[in-house]
Amino acid sequence: MKLQCKLCGKNLHSNEMLSAPNPFDADDILQACPDCKQITDGFDHICDIDGCKNFAGCGFPVPKKYKSLFPQDYLYTCHKHWKQYEK
Ligand SMILES: [Zn+2]
Ligand SMILES: [Zn+2]
Repeated sequence: MKLQCKLCGKNLHSNEMLSAPNPFDADDILQACPDCKQITDGFDHICDIDGCKNFAGCGFPVPKKYKSLFPQDYLYTCHKHWKQYEK
């Protein structure tokens, strides 16, 4: 999924996040921004549709008829694209 760092504003993909086991909780994974290294401010979801940079306010399972378009099972999208693909 596409993300934007809440601290430095970097746009990144979730697989670019730095991750490390939390030294205080063996079941937890800490995820940090590769640029500013923050782990506490978090990330905003960005619409998964190619080229769209709107914040994703909605998410839904990919409908069967759009399965060929999207590799993922779940989409985070902005309101505009939610209307387009949800049905
Ligand atoms: Zn950052
Ligand atoms: Zn969008």
